Amino acid sequence: MRSKLVAGNWKMNGIKASLVEVEAIAAACRSNSDVDVALFVPATLIADAVSVAGVMMIGGQDCHANDCGAHTGNIAAPMLVEAGARLVIVGHSERRADQGETDVEVKAKAEAARRHGLGVILCVGETLDERGKDQAEQVVSAQIARSLPDGADGEWLSIAYEPVWAIGTGRTPTETEVAAVHGAIRAQIGGLLGGDAAASLRILYGGSVNGANAASLLACADVDGALVGGASLTARDFVPIIEAAASQQQILP
Ligand code: PEP
Repeated sequence: MRSKLVAGNWKMNGIKASLVEVEAIAAACRSNSDVDVALFVPATLIADAVSVAGVMMIGGQDCHANDCGAHTGNIAAPMLVEAGARLVIVGHSERRADQGETDVEVKAKAEAARRHGLGVILCVGETLDERGKDQAEQVVSAQIARSLPDGADGEWLSIAYEPVWAIGTGRTPTETEVAAVHGAIRAQIGGLLGGDAAASLRILYGGSVNGANAASLLACADVDGALVGGASLTARDFVPIIEAAASQQQILP
């Protein structure tokens, strides 16, 4: 059985005044307890967010592959753990674009996170140009093949399919397109890690999810949750997505 996971990525947004939103989202989690909810806040807010998060998980938005060292401005997995994070995102397309992160680096980050007991959301997704050339599945498959951490299983790893062209644009793939990529990811995981991992691993959709489209996106085959950017910044926008997931909680073989 895979319970839905709704994850909010605050990116470079949020100061202490934003903790009222964390508290309001946490309150909604208490009444939607069938759904797992995680909020990925800036590193400076992790400890404070944990103190008001209740059952909601707080995560980091990235971690370095090394545990310590001369890497100015980076954050290491044990630092996230000490701050109270339970999960981390790796391979977000904004980091791939802004920091030039490669699949090999993303894999090393995921393995570092796992060494320290963090759950991992590994992001993959094609550009608009690649989608236009009908290469989405091929691109995503290659990213997974190169970045899947050693020893991965569905207990601690989730994959987020996030078409780059859908992030922050208000555009989304059709439900057929979402289901096709998610189905291909699950088949690939089955081939690489076996049937048990494929059955337990959650595959999230990300890219312009909001309260209006969440129900239809979450209802697509092989969609086990959502990774949400802009619409996760306030309880007003994020809670309807959590509620959409709660109303669709699936029981799968
Ligand atoms: C994201 O950045 O992971 C994301 C999905 O953003 P948005 O929901 O704003 O498109």
